[in-house]
Amino acid sequence: MLSVIIPAYNEEEIIPKTASVIDKILDEAQIPHELLFINDGSGDHTWDRITEQAGMIDTVRGVCFSRNFGKESAIFAGLATARGDCCVVIDCDLQHPPEKIVEMYRLWEQGYEIVEGVKSDRGKESGLHRFAARSFYNIMSGSVGFDMSRASDFKLLDRKAVNVLLNMNEKNAFFRALSSWIGFKSIEVEYEVREREAGVSKWSTLSLVKYALTNISSFTSAPMQLVTILGIIVFVVGLATSIEALVRFFQGTAQAGFTTVIILQCFIGSFTMIGLGIIGFYISKIYDEVKGRPRYIIDKTTDE
Ligand code: UDP
Ligand code: MG
Repeated sequence: MLSVIIPAYNEEEIIPKTASVIDKILDEAQIPHELLFINDGSGDHTWDRITEQAGMIDTVRGVCFSRNFGKESAIFAGLATARGDCCVVIDCDLQHPPEKIVEMYRLWEQGYEIVEGVKSDRGKESGLHRFAARSFYNIMSGSVGFDMSRASDFKLLDRKAVNVLLNMNEKNAFFRALSSWIGFKSIEVEYEVREREAGVSKWSTLSLVKYALTNISSFTSAPMQLVTILGIIVFVVGLATSIEALVRFFQGTAQAGFTTVIILQCFIGSFTMIGLGIIGFYISKIYDEVKGRPRYIIDKTTDE
């Protein structure tokens, strides 16, 4: 059986359509399936719509979070609840073409364990957004070791891969990268990002920046090493200035040297602060991990 995992946050308008569209496509392709909606603490009637659909279509199941935990958590809750031999993660807004699920499933039947949906383009995005996204994916690609610029959360995972992901006890898991990082026999399927069918994007600029920082820190400690490099540079500059100062002192031409001192003070001061900030950021992430809080809290499901 195929489990389709659909994270939904304030998607009341689109739930009925998403459920019927995906259900129909999979029925026609004669793929045994379940549709698993994860209500990520929506403030609207998303959960009511999900329970309605679960009453009408028997392949629909729902899980409801106690509050908003973020898409990443919703995906992991879906993976944990899914009963299928393979799982597909797809957005609720139908931006990921559901017909592709069939193609992905056929590839799984041929023995591929991970089928990655890659965007053939990034859809409509403003210039600044595009630039920010590109920088983020460049950093991520560098630290993960493969191209992430077209990666998305739209992918199929075999039960084996799902279990591996579920057994990782990382809290700040970045699904998109982690699912490639685990390896397994994988293949890519290209798709075109569509326009959102209803509602608005659930990501504010601030939430995207937070998302980017969390994911960068969960995959690379490069920013911390940056501090060391800055430290070395400052040390070299300091050494040169000190030698110059000493030479002048012995020559008897020592200047008041006020400017040099001030400049050095500023640089060292700022590097120290930046360094501490970066270290503090990582410590806060370590703190989050060691607290060992659950990734999400389930309030209710449609299974009872
Ligand atoms: N989503 C979620 N929790 C959140 C934000 C988003 O479950 O906190 C879901 C949302 O309902 C949708 C998917 O994640 O199914 C992608 O969100 P969206 O379409 O807003 O992002 P975009 O397509 O603009 O990147
Ligand atoms: Mg979307």
